[in-house]
Amino acid sequence: MKAGYSLLLILLFLIPDSKAQDVKVIDPPFWWANMPVTELQIQLYGENIGSYRASVNYDGVEIKRQIAVDSPNYLFIYLDISEKAEVGKLDIILKNGDKSITVPYELLEREPAEGRYQGFDSRDVIYLMMPDRFANGNPDNDTIEGMLESADRSNPQRRQGGDIQGVVENLDYIKDLGVSAVWFTPLFENDMTTKYGAYHGYAATDLYKVDRRFGSNEEYKAMIETVHENGMKVIMDMIHNHIGDQHWWMKDLPTKDWVHDFEKLGQTNFRGSVASDPYASEFDSRKLVDGWFVPEMPDLNQDNELLTDYLIQNTLWWIEYTGVDGIRMDTYVYPDKDYMARWSKEVLEAYPTFNIVGEAWVNTVAGEAYWQEDKDGVDDGYDSELPSLTDFQFAFAVRKAFNEDFGWTEGLSQLYYVLSQDFLYSDPMKNVTFLDNHDMSRFFEHIGKREAEFKMALAWLMTTRGTPQIYYGTELLMGHENRGGDDEVWRQTMPGGFPNDSRSVFTREGRTQKENEIHEYTKKLIHWRNSSPAIHEGKLVHFIPQDNVYVYFRVHKDQTVMVVMNNSEENKTMERLRFAEILDQFKTGQNVMNNKTIDLSDNFSVDAKKTVILELR
Ligand code: CA
Repeated sequence: MKAGYSLLLILLFLIPDSKAQDVKVIDPPFWWANMPVTELQIQLYGENIGSYRASVNYDGVEIKRQIAVDSPNYLFIYLDISEKAEVGKLDIILKNGDKSITVPYELLEREPAEGRYQGFDSRDVIYLMMPDRFANGNPDNDTIEGMLESADRSNPQRRQGGDIQGVVENLDYIKDLGVSAVWFTPLFENDMTTKYGAYHGYAATDLYKVDRRFGSNEEYKAMIETVHENGMKVIMDMIHNHIGDQHWWMKDLPTKDWVHDFEKLGQTNFRGSVASDPYASEFDSRKLVDGWFVPEMPDLNQDNELLTDYLIQNTLWWIEYTGVDGIRMDTYVYPDKDYMARWSKEVLEAYPTFNIVGEAWVNTVAGEAYWQEDKDGVDDGYDSELPSLTDFQFAFAVRKAFNEDFGWTEGLSQLYYVLSQDFLYSDPMKNVTFLDNHDMSRFFEHIGKREAEFKMALAWLMTTRGTPQIYYGTELLMGHENRGGDDEVWRQTMPGGFPNDSRSVFTREGRTQKENEIHEYTKKLIHWRNSSPAIHEGKLVHFIPQDNVYVYFRVHKDQTVMVVMNNSEENKTMERLRFAEILDQFKTGQNVMNNKTIDLSDNFSVDAKKTVILELR
């Protein structure tokens, strides 16, 4: 007894105020000098830490406020970090009576801005991928001791083992395709039980950590640097609407109102329209915003400023730490919309070259357009501050266009009508356009695996207005057996990305003839698009679809492009006179896919089930 007591005394004497013992979490783990914002909120978590008071002695750094909350185990400290504060180590001294804890903290030097946080726009082509499903470069991280779920290749609803290393090893494949930006579904730690599976990343259990089954924070940062070195950009997926129910906060919530009450509110009504509806009831509005997305994803309460400061700062931290170029914000219409506007505004003020696309999954063009910044006359002057939208109306239109018979409003007319409402957007060119994504059946499957139509839709995506996004596997004509199904059905692994795969689609030899054909088509289209000012910035002029043929032009001072989409079963003759307002200035058109020149001085013919893209001369 006595010996043990003495040993304890000696230990206490040796480490009188160690951070490791008393403070379990410091968020953010570090910061930088000379950041675009001067305020820094530090969240400390540790037993009874709320009963301590903090002080700092560092030139240019001052404590503005410190806040204890409902749980005694948190302390929120707000620092003002002025321009005078230099790079270096500072100690935060916590005192409670005669007890003292020293929390070491660091202000790092910012990296030069060049080549970082570049944003993205209509000159880019975005490749959307799920890191768990792309390639497993490090089978050693498939199982991590202490984490709740391991990879299980026998069950598509579970993790498959893909990771950051797998992306790095196959970056040449992505680059070769010509895409200029990669959107990764979230890499945040999702340490959730196997019951739900959280390979998708949308149930974060720590907003400052990359999931160790994907790699480390350092690997993520290094990967982004490698992507940059290869002339591409990275779009990070984020979620501020919810977290995973096994987030460490949930065991000991900072405040009683940190998340909304599931018992009271249940699930959201999933009706994004409510947020923009001038007649919405209180009941529906509350349900949309405060209801939970799913029972295992607690809904964050963005009325709590400690939380919103934490979230905004978390975004700035990831941008500064990694140099990432853009964010795709998940479930944009579900959180408090004034918070989302504040978040977007503050992020873009801090990083003006950055860009954000919000997932606004609603059902009408007007409802979609509501969420774009700089809209006049809506909702008592509400401005979302959001530059770009995931253009679901575009996706819905093209998905109908090739599944319906042609008519006044049906079939190809869908494409015409969806774009004819572009006056509703403040800048439709900023919309991210797509045929499918990780939450929808694959386009190829959706149109009944018809290759000619698939190519036509892809050509439309790459030549009409907007910033196109393709979903991994599109370049391989990926479909799936079950059109309904659940998410995992359209989230297949890339053959060749995983140990013991029987073939590799990452090489020409490993792909089937059909896969190679569509791969070449996609690649050629994207590479051509990359060099086309008319597609990047040109004015769109389209003609009402007639007889199942849709014709449009992209007009730019340095280039004019004509696109003829013939969705009928017959070859069609184009009446030159109808397009004279543009064709009068040109004599010939060069087909960008086969370099053949056609004479435009007279009527000309376009083959059945083909899209022809012509550079006019
Ligand atoms: Ca792995």
